[in-house]
Amino acid sequence: MSYCHLVHPSHSTQRLVCPDCDALLEMPDLEEGEKAVCPRCVAPLLSNPRNSVHRTAALAFASGLLFIVANAFPFMTLEAGYRYSEMRLWQSAWGLEAEGNPYLAVAVSFFILGAPALLIGGLLYLLLPLMWNRRLPGAVPICRWVLWARRWNMIEVFLLGALVSLLKLGKLATLTLGTSFWAFIALIVCLTAALASIHPRELWARLEMPDA
Ligand SMILES: [Zn+2]
Repeated sequence: MSYCHLVHPSHSTQRLVCPDCDALLEMPDLEEGEKAVCPRCVAPLLSNPRNSVHRTAALAFASGLLFIVANAFPFMTLEAGYRYSEMRLWQSAWGLEAEGNPYLAVAVSFFILGAPALLIGGLLYLLLPLMWNRRLPGAVPICRWVLWARRWNMIEVFLLGALVSLLKLGKLATLTLGTSFWAFIALIVCLTAALASIHPRELWARLEMPDA
C-alpha cells in the first residue's frame, strides 16, 4: 500500500484529485500489487494489479514440460486383431493421411504440434527475460504475434485436432489412451490459462522499459 503525496508546487508529475475529499494529489509510481490511497481520507485511488508476467511465465514453463511429456510417451495404443502398436502424438494425424486426407493431416499436425510449440516458445522467449527486466531481439514483433494468436480460441482448435485423429483411428482399431494423451489435455488447460493471464497493457509497458 502506498500513500499519495500532497502536491508540492515544484513537482510536475501526474496529478489526481481525490474523488472523496477533493485533495489535489501527486501520484507515485506504484509497485506490483500496490494500491494508492488518499492520505487525507484513505479513499482508494489507483491500483497496480499483481504482476501477471511471473504467473504467465510459470504457466508457459509448465506447458513446455507437458509438451515434452506429451511427445515423449505413447499417445495411445492400438489393437487391431493380433497387431498391437503404440502411437506417438506426432503420429496421431497419420490415420488421416492413410484415409487420403493429407491436407487435413497437415492441418491437424500443425494444430496439435506446431501451434502449441510456437506459442510456448514465443511466451518463454518474451517472458523469461522480462522477469529480469531484459528484452531479447525481436521481442516486440513476437509480443504482437502472441497477442494476435491468443485471440483464436486455441483450446477448441487443439481439442478438435486431437478428437478428429481419435475418431478416425478409432474406426481402424481398438485404442487405449496413453500418458501422452492426458499430458496433452493438461497442456491445453495450462496453455489456455497462460494466454488468459496475459495483461497486454502491462506486457507492453514492461517491454518498453529501458533495459536495466
Ligand atoms: Zn481524499
